[in-house]
Amino acid sequence: MNDQDSQRRVVIIGGGFAGLFAARVLRRAPVRVTLVDRRPHHLFQPLLYQCSTGILSEGKIAVPLRDLLRKQKNADFVLAEVTGIDAEGRRVLATRPLGDQLEFGYDYLIVAAGVQQSYFGHDEYAQWAPGMKTIEHALVIRRRVFGAFELADTAVDPAERSRWLTFALVGAGPTGVELAGQIREVATKTLRDEYRHIKPEDARVLLFDGGDAPLAPFGPELSAKAARTLAKLGVEQHMHSIVTNIDATGLSVRAQDGTVTRHEAGTVLWTAGVAAPPVAAAIAAATGAKQDRAGRIMVGDDCTIPDHPEIFVTGDVMSLNKLPGVCEVAMQTGIYAGERIKHEVAGRMPAKPFRYHDLGSAAYLSRGRAVVSVGRVHLSGFLAWVVWLFIHIGFLTGFRNRLGALLSWWPAFVRDVRRERTYTTEQVGLVHSAYDVLPPPTAGTALPGSTTGTELPGAGAKPSATGTGPSG
Ligand SMILES: Cc1cc2nc3c(=O)[nH]c(=O)nc-3n(C[C@H](O)[C@H](O)[C@H](O)COP(=O)(O)OP(=O)(O)OC[C@H]3O[C@@H](n4cnc5c(N)ncnc54)[C@H](O)[C@@H]3O)c2cc1C
Repeated sequence: MNDQDSQRRVVIIGGGFAGLFAARVLRRAPVRVTLVDRRPHHLFQPLLYQCSTGILSEGKIAVPLRDLLRKQKNADFVLAEVTGIDAEGRRVLATRPLGDQLEFGYDYLIVAAGVQQSYFGHDEYAQWAPGMKTIEHALVIRRRVFGAFELADTAVDPAERSRWLTFALVGAGPTGVELAGQIREVATKTLRDEYRHIKPEDARVLLFDGGDAPLAPFGPELSAKAARTLAKLGVEQHMHSIVTNIDATGLSVRAQDGTVTRHEAGTVLWTAGVAAPPVAAAIAAATGAKQDRAGRIMVGDDCTIPDHPEIFVTGDVMSLNKLPGVCEVAMQTGIYAGERIKHEVAGRMPAKPFRYHDLGSAAYLSRGRAVVSVGRVHLSGFLAWVVWLFIHIGFLTGFRNRLGALLSWWPAFVRDVRRERTYTTEQVGLVHSAYDVLPPPTAGTALPGSTTGTELPGAGAKPSATGTGPSG
């Protein structure tokens, strides 16, 4: 038996912040680490909105897990989707991309599978309103946002043009707020001089949320400041609004007084809720663990599942003391699980219970404007934006794209230039392509495609009977 065979096996499900930090802590421990992820990269989710609005390329926010683990000789990466575990036999069950089965024996298991977008029981909305969790989502949103301006430019029916120039966002948390601000900046700054038949700055951005105010978790003071900044940017905020339907051409929303209003919008984006991925339910069923309302696995204060001291649950998929789903919780729980395994393998005293050190939170509103909340310190405006910048540069430490991100931010922040606007017009995933033929019209709804064969207004072309592009 060689050294490797006698070493304990640690399997980590998920290479996000929790899984990756757990793996790194174990780099000098006498264990064999297998990190299984259904995606080949570690994704920096907080900057997804910059990828989708053309500031950063996907390569700047996603790094191959193999690359990140290449120097860690005791770690291996496997591209596969974990489907469940055999808790008694201590085996992780997974599916290769080709569909065949894989198994990994473990002595310790770290579950770090994150969360996915939730449509609160209305998964059918997903085809019209992409969420914002993965690189695929960011690229779909990029295609839809920039594609909408193109479709508006060639639309001769004013109702259709106005629909393509209307962007609706559901959810006024940090992601919804960041995206809303970015789309207005794209419209009023980046695209300002690029169109001949439309004024991009006419683009309306509607932000819907069931709560009282945007960024509510930041507290009333910062939330009010964020609302004022968004209003100045031109974001139309509809609070106390519950979405009752989303389809190909817009959404319906119920206000507090019960009235339902239909909003025509060519682009609807969903940033409203999260739920644990299916693997969490499979692990709970195999171990008898309880799940919270969002399906997250409930753990004890050592981040393990009751009666299973060998199974740690970390990051967003963990439910413990109502800790928020943020990077710091993921990193700290990942590090804690790794340290605890290191202790146990070395035969030392068990580590102390997990304690979260809250380092605060930040949200980007627009160029030069952010909100930051650290304990009792609440910042907004330019100072908060500078703090945001340093936090994110710090966050990127250890990922090779830190310098690249900085170089991309410079033209975007200084000259409104967004260099990463490339998108394809192909169908992507489940989301309907902006260029595909849409289902038959519902009564009173103008559909894209109605302009086929109509000459466009512009140099040498006469305005059509159905309307001309706005001047400018
Ligand atoms: C748009 C957006 C903006 C955000 N902004 C901020 C912010 O500004 N500040 C902040 O602190 N936090 C922010 N967050 C939250 C933060 O990104 C998460 O808290 C953090 O990524 C959680 O890390 P994790 O490791 O638990 O999960 P994740 O980073 O989601 O990683 C989970 C990994 O598990 C893999 N996985 C899932 N299921 C399986 C399976 N069955 N088999 C194999 N692999 C699987 C996934 O592919 C993924 O790689 C944001 C999140 C989003 C989506």
